Amino acid sequence: MGGQDSADRICSVSVDLDAIACYYRIHALPGAPAEPARFAILRRCLPRFAELFARHGVRATFFVVGADLDDDAQGRALLAELARAGHELASHSHTHPYDFIHLGAARIADEIDRAHAAIAACAGAPPVGFRAPGYEISGDAIEALRARGYRYDSSVFPSASYYGAKAVVMGAMRVTGRKSGSVLGNPGVLFAPRAPYRPAVGAPYRAGGDSDGILELPIAVTPLARLPVIGTSLILAPAWLRRRLVAAALRERLFNLELHGIDLCDAAGDDVPAALVARQPDLRRPLAHKLAVLDETLAAVRASGARFAPLAEAAASL
Ligand SMILES: [Zn+2]
Repeated sequence: MGGQDSADRICSVSVDLDAIACYYRIHALPGAPAEPARFAILRRCLPRFAELFARHGVRATFFVVGADLDDDAQGRALLAELARAGHELASHSHTHPYDFIHLGAARIADEIDRAHAAIAACAGAPPVGFRAPGYEISGDAIEALRARGYRYDSSVFPSASYYGAKAVVMGAMRVTGRKSGSVLGNPGVLFAPRAPYRPAVGAPYRAGGDSDGILELPIAVTPLARLPVIGTSLILAPAWLRRRLVAAALRERLFNLELHGIDLCDAAGDDVPAALVARQPDLRRPLAHKLAVLDETLAAVRASGARFAPLAEAAASL
């Protein structure tokens, strides 16, 4: 899909609002984060994203974990305000189970339905997009979304280096007797299309579905090497590599830029526990650096002539 006119190139910026507790589960840390870290993503990080996006004229997609809306009236009010300002609220499941696709049909439906109700009540409109926890989707989950009127899924992250890094970290944790809450998924994702596609029935990582089915919007990776072009990789990469990653993503019809709430966390100011900071390298980068990286990236998108649109609008125009 390269070589498109700038007029019809789209950049969709999305933010997965995984709470700090999710990172406790990935790294198998004991207990639960205390306040204020417990609510840091919605109360501290979300307003920083709102300001960043306002500076660049971005209407973004926020992938919301439904149960977080029940827990946090303040966070819910912020999200409702963002929805009123034209941002999209989409579903990131109800409780963010890393084994989502292995839960069985009834619990998968329950995760989708409870998040759907909570997000619809907050946004004033039902969500039409979904991103599975841990980037893992299944044919059954796609069918459940389709039956509920969802228009797109954006769970597929076809990055070899991400998959490899996750396998190494999980292997190392097993060797040291710790069990990650994360799940290493189907390697079929490594060969999934990089451009938007309609998944074949029962085969979410292959094209071949009907034209009226769910559209899969894969998260950006570079051609050939399939390096991830997401917030975490941009924040950790040296400047020369970061600019190449962004330039490569901007040659596509859709630059599906995935960020996480934690990308704008200020580890010290937001009281993130040291045990988590020790395990999560991006938390050791100063907030000013992370803001500068995202400002530079969004400025590069604007300079390229691509237009910003939430994923639901991108899905409707592709
Ligand atoms: Zn997540």
